[in-house]
Amino acid sequence: MTLDLEQAAAERGIKYFLISYTDLFGTQRAKLVPAAAIRGMARDGAGFAGFATWLDMSPADPDLFAVPDPDGLIALPWKPEVGWLPADLRMAGEPVAQAPRTLLKRLVAEAARDGLSLKTGVECEFFLIAPDGSGPADAADRQVKPCYDQSALMRRYDVITEICDAMLALGWGPYQNDHEDANGQFEMNWDYADALVTADRHAFFKYMTRSIAEKHGLRATFMPKPFPDLTGSGCHAHVSLWRDGRNLFADPADPLGLSQAGYHVIGGIMQAADAMAAITNPTVNSYKRLNAPRTASGATWAPNTVTYTGNNRTHMIRIPDGGRFELRLADGAVNPYLLQAVILAAGLDGLRHGRDPGPRLDLNMYTHGHTVEGVKRLPLNLLDALRALEASPVLNEALGAFVPSYLKLKTEEWNAYAAHLTQWERDTTLDC
Ligand code: ADP
Ligand code: MG
Ligand code: MG
Ligand code: MG
Ligand code: MG
Repeated sequence: MTLDLEQAAAERGIKYFLISYTDLFGTQRAKLVPAAAIRGMARDGAGFAGFATWLDMSPADPDLFAVPDPDGLIALPWKPEVGWLPADLRMAGEPVAQAPRTLLKRLVAEAARDGLSLKTGVECEFFLIAPDGSGPADAADRQVKPCYDQSALMRRYDVITEICDAMLALGWGPYQNDHEDANGQFEMNWDYADALVTADRHAFFKYMTRSIAEKHGLRATFMPKPFPDLTGSGCHAHVSLWRDGRNLFADPADPLGLSQAGYHVIGGIMQAADAMAAITNPTVNSYKRLNAPRTASGATWAPNTVTYTGNNRTHMIRIPDGGRFELRLADGAVNPYLLQAVILAAGLDGLRHGRDPGPRLDLNMYTHGHTVEGVKRLPLNLLDALRALEASPVLNEALGAFVPSYLKLKTEEWNAYAAHLTQWERDTTLDC
């Protein structure tokens, strides 16, 4: 039975609801609705002008309605009188096919028709920076190898534990927090769950982390590569596929504990990887994390090649443990809903067609990648990735009307970037 929001408001002291949707570029858009008005909004949705956000709509289009999903209700831990509600988009009485949450729900439902459910955990790396964006906020955080720096972590105890306490209270099962490989960079981990639940939590985690950081006079950024010489922010996804409460990826007989189904899903993801990158690495800046030169810490920890391996962090896919694999491709700019959607689309294609990922490569790809022949490299820039998405039969078929809308908006973004005359061009070309 779905939750009655009016009743939930009365019981939990919620005065306002944030009816929130995530657009194609991952931005969360919302209306703040008093509890007294929630009944009608829960039924009909909150009205928006779609063109005013990144959805590929026209200013002449009729109203867009965001219909909240009561199952996703979260009282803001830092302001519990406000209830956040993820919403699904409708226009002229129909679901909006290109809306990220709607798209993911469709793919989840299609998988469920085959008895399959995807379960994932995401690792959202982020930086705590000065509010003006100039650099890491902690001037004392200067180690060349800052990963797991105990003192730098504990100087941020108040922020990190406020976020972790919130996740504990929400029942997400957080289990560790650490300082990551770049100065000012952190990661907080919580338990995996069904793809849609993880996507909603991922979206909310970004909003919560930014909001709580702001409260503490800081700024949190998930930008893929904010500082050229420091490790960028990834968003690794750990993946397993389940049927009737059983993990189909578990096989104790395999040397890495992964089943044939798991290898086929890896095969599907490897086959579609360059097209997936348009979604998992969605910004111009994303390609400064992928294929990057060595960072000050000694390694970028980001993949450059479409390869898989065992417990080795220099490849696109790592199998750290039985019954799951880790996709290390996505970065902090990834849209939480599209990340899950594209893993489902490419992964299930691999399963259905029995795609073969080939043998695993057990070598350090940063130092020895050049010694293996025929290895596919990841796209070098957003335009290459967008072209690969346009040419991908698998993703076009699975993602449907979303793809042309996304390509249109992202090509406009690429063109805006390409039109930008940089100082680098002037420095290198004035005397040509
Ligand atoms: P690492 O840094 O080694 O890549 P983390 O501990 O930071 O790993 O993150 C691991 C993520 O994988 C967590 O979200 C965890 O819940 C998730 N996970 C563990 N087992 C599974 C599984 N069977 N299916 C999907 N996700 C899983
Ligand atoms: Mg108005
Ligand atoms: Mg981690
Ligand atoms: Mg990490
Ligand atoms: Mg990881």
